[in-house]
Amino acid sequence: MKAKKSIQTTLVHSDYKAPASFDAYPMAVHHASTVLFPNVAAMRSRKWADKSGYTYGLHGTPTTFTLEARIAEIEGGRYCVLAPSGLAAISMVDLAFLKSGDDILIPDNIYGPNREVGDWLARAFGVSTRYYDPLIGAGIAALITPHTKLIWTEAPGSVTMEMPDIKAIARAANDAGVLVALDNTWSAGLAFNGFEHGADIVMQALTKYHSGGSDVLMGAVVTREPALSRRLDLAYRHMGLGVGADDAYLVLRGLPTMKLRFEAHDLSARRIAAWMQARPEIAKVLHPALPDCPGHAIWQRDFTGAGGLFSVIFDPRYSEQQTDRFVDSLDLFKIGYSWGGASSLVMPYRIDSMRSNWSEPGQLVRLNIGLESTDDLIADLEQALATLK
Ligand SMILES: *Cc1c(COP(=O)(O)O)cnc(C)c1O
Repeated sequence: MKAKKSIQTTLVHSDYKAPASFDAYPMAVHHASTVLFPNVAAMRSRKWADKSGYTYGLHGTPTTFTLEARIAEIEGGRYCVLAPSGLAAISMVDLAFLKSGDDILIPDNIYGPNREVGDWLARAFGVSTRYYDPLIGAGIAALITPHTKLIWTEAPGSVTMEMPDIKAIARAANDAGVLVALDNTWSAGLAFNGFEHGADIVMQALTKYHSGGSDVLMGAVVTREPALSRRLDLAYRHMGLGVGADDAYLVLRGLPTMKLRFEAHDLSARRIAAWMQARPEIAKVLHPALPDCPGHAIWQRDFTGAGGLFSVIFDPRYSEQQTDRFVDSLDLFKIGYSWGGASSLVMPYRIDSMRSNWSEPGQLVRLNIGLESTDDLIADLEQALATLK
């Protein structure tokens, strides 16, 4: 028989249990640091690493396991590990698969902070970091040494938009026993299947299309091979990474509408890209679905869509001061990093300071086409272009 409890203990432990039969379409959100075990034997028998049960909040809850499984399904992989940001997912890949003395190859057009991690690995951890031409294709074979362990790819580089030949890079890497990691954020995992094109590790910034709300930061790393998944789980554990239950829920909530949103972004972005291409102020539109974008043929061969992100290069007769005024004059396009949310965004980039190899003249401005009316966005661009005169 249970002893009568004082009110203080009743405040901590209640005897009430809600009926177990509740069911609804949305996932329940499980908040926990401590996970309770029914007895000592259960505690001793559960292993954090096999994810078949619950041991501690950091090692997974029904909410995070569900999100992991769903991201793995979308990417066509088997295993997924979440990270508190896309960048944390990138660092987790590097720390899982590299040690001092190893060599890593990173495309020259990679997402900027990924490059900064590469420089940090070289500076602080004795890794040799080299940057390669994103359009290198099968030529990557000539850069691989016995020390090369990992090749990063991004399809396409999300500022200058060159589309790499993942298949050719992966074939050369596989022949040499080198792992290929793909940043698949641009395609949301909807328009491109990284594994079917030879990637071993697929990384996503769930911050972008998966969330869709511009209100959560999260990343994911997906694999197919148990040995790779184990290495990632260890890195995740040693780095003490974890994601909050409410954040995981926000991403789960975004999934059912992600493809519809992605297609709406894509349709609007292609119309706006074509409109920009016809403007005399614009020297180049960098959108992989346009025939003169570097790597366009690869996009056509491998991708089923494009999403909402592309860049333009202004005619070199316009100074940075003038194109900054263009950016400042936009009304619906807000100035801010990131993409994949409902609001259109704009960001000018100083490319020559970001790349080892960039000789294209003219100012580069990146556009994230949101979910506003396409006609309103075009009208906004038109009035801002008029300020260049
Ligand atoms: C945003 C982004 C990331 C990083 O995601 P965060 O959650 O912002 O850290 C990585 N890769 C690409 C291509 C991105 O656009």
